[in-house]
Amino acid sequence: MGSAAPLDAGALPALATDPKFIFFTDFDGTITLQDSNDYMTDNLGYGPEKRKQGNKDVLFGKRDFRSSFREMLDSVPTPFDECVRTLLANVKLDPGFKQFFEWSRAANVPVVVLSGGMQPIIRALLAHLVGHDCVDHIQIVSNDVAPRPGSKGINEPNGWHIVFHDDSGFGHDKSIEIRKYSQLPKERRPTLFYAGDGVSDLSAARETDLMFAKEGRDLVTYCKNEKIPYEEFSDFTSILATVKAIVEGKTTIEEAAKRAQQ
Ligand SMILES: [Mg+2]
Repeated sequence: MGSAAPLDAGALPALATDPKFIFFTDFDGTITLQDSNDYMTDNLGYGPEKRKQGNKDVLFGKRDFRSSFREMLDSVPTPFDECVRTLLANVKLDPGFKQFFEWSRAANVPVVVLSGGMQPIIRALLAHLVGHDCVDHIQIVSNDVAPRPGSKGINEPNGWHIVFHDDSGFGHDKSIEIRKYSQLPKERRPTLFYAGDGVSDLSAARETDLMFAKEGRDLVTYCKNEKIPYEEFSDFTSILATVKAIVEGKTTIEEAAKRAQQ
């Protein structure tokens, strides 16, 4: 036994198995091919044109993510259970994620989902696409859903709204959860990875040791504009190759980060 004080497992759940690496990841459009919130907005709410304008305004700093995102989701009148059914029928999993997730469990690399989406949707999609076992072994930090004021319940028409995780302009400031780990003293601090694709990942972009950004998406634009190093990915197959090489000591995080900078 070391002399270090025991860690608070409640505040730092990803350290429960004493890992040397933690993999933080966005959910929508990163673990899945489609963004579930975009899908609902485009097909059940006010449509892609207004949504894309909102995203652009956030990306270029004209408005905050929180208000744009709430407006988007409030445009969806569909009962919540029907939204979930629609998403289960249409949203697909990244082709490399299942293999990545299985490897991560065997290698003691906890996967923590940091999402600007809603908990019940993420749980339903993960159970459906990866398996019920996955939901039990993955930590999900995200927003939630509740009845709109005056409605009888979330499964009524115009019955639900998003409940944000925190008071930040992001609705869910992903850097808050990551900082709990990145600020640990050196001897306790695991190496931190992050994978993401869009505007909800802007708050996380500077916080980890190696960042994966999905090709062709807004996060790549942001990283380029802000000169934040990132490794581009098209699916989790290449993420698995990089993370595995680091975990197995075939390359170092410094080398991988250096390559990402070029
Ligand atoms: Mg996303």
